[in-house]
Amino acid sequence: MRVGIGTDVHPVEAGRPCWVAGLLWPGDDGCAGHSDGDVAAHALCDALLSAAGLGDLGAVFGTGRPEWSGASGVTLLAEVRRLVEAEGWALGNAAVQVIGNAPKIGTRRAEAQQVLSDALGGPVAVSGTTTDGLGLTGRGEGIAAVATALLLPR
Ligand code: MG
Repeated sequence: MRVGIGTDVHPVEAGRPCWVAGLLWPGDDGCAGHSDGDVAAHALCDALLSAAGLGDLGAVFGTGRPEWSGASGVTLLAEVRRLVEAEGWALGNAAVQVIGNAPKIGTRRAEAQQVLSDALGGPVAVSGTTTDGLGLTGRGEGIAAVATALLLPR
């Protein structure tokens, strides 16, 4: 078995669609980024890559590979799954926690878990928290996510 960890932060930018945990959320305060800014998907990608010893998102999908620019978080997850499975691993389970004032993850938890679990081929738990007004997430300047993943031999 192998465990991995991933984190991500994106600035909140007015006028952008808000993609978090594979879902499009109401409102126009979305996340800026190289792709759709889905911090939960990106943290999960890094957790799986970390567990498999395949580096990180920057190495796999970075600015040196413009074909991935604008790719959805779920598209990136599917590619990470392919890479991890090609190395002989399968997802045991993963967990991701979204840190921010909005969106309220609990209102669509089941939907988010289904989308992410389908993309990765294993169970993904999704949770959310705030920082009680402290820091960049508390001021609404950004959204963060932390993820872990457990890989099992295929
Ligand atoms: Mg990111």
